[in-house]
Amino acid sequence: MTPSVVARIPQIDSLLNLPPSQRIRKRLLDAGQRAHANDNIADFIEEGELDELQNEVQDRIQEVLQALVIDTQNDHNSRETARRVARMFVREVFRGRYESAPRVTAFPNVSQLNELMIVGPIRVRSACSHHLCPVMGEVWVGVLPNAESALIGLSKYARLCDWVMSRPQIQEEAIVMLADELERRIRPDGLAVVMEASHFCMHWRGVKDDGALMTNSVMRGAFLKDAALRREFLSLRQKPGRNPG
Ligand SMILES: [Zn+2]
Repeated sequence: MTPSVVARIPQIDSLLNLPPSQRIRKRLLDAGQRAHANDNIADFIEEGELDELQNEVQDRIQEVLQALVIDTQNDHNSRETARRVARMFVREVFRGRYESAPRVTAFPNVSQLNELMIVGPIRVRSACSHHLCPVMGEVWVGVLPNAESALIGLSKYARLCDWVMSRPQIQEEAIVMLADELERRIRPDGLAVVMEASHFCMHWRGVKDDGALMTNSVMRGAFLKDAALRREFLSLRQKPGRNPG
């Protein structure tokens, strides 16, 4: 290779000629931003680029199917699988990584509500970042507002939860992320989040335990300091007929 050819390579390899995943990764690296499975990277994706990314994922899934020795040419059930899986990952089950946060209008607390508010159960659909297996469960949120808190509509809790959960992650980090989003918007005196979920990587593979549920919680502010408030939240969130504990 002559030196003049070498010198031209950076121009040929301009950002536009890279696959979309590498362009996005380069922007993330340049900005010093993480791209863990549960990070939202919407700010680093340009208009129209998500379609390109979905096409790239489709090509890679097709390669995985080939590596699994599945004859996608002749098996009519698998012919469109790469396209379907790419769409499912990018536009559905992991869209919380690629889409900006839902718009959440906050209202001033004009009635100066300062009583415990409980929202839930909110349906959780997520996936573990270890196996990309589904994680299905429920979330309860407890809010103790103060006069300066912002209030958000009931449906917005579900939309924010869905945005945070639609990423591959581990449950312990998922509820911390959800608590951070809620705390930043509502600025309450206390915030509690409890998540109870069933992990399909324990049912479908591994120990194949069908009964196992994982429950964890985040308690902040008043919920940390006030054991009675914590108890009130935990007892009120119990559904009728459910075994406590
Ligand atoms: Zn797993």
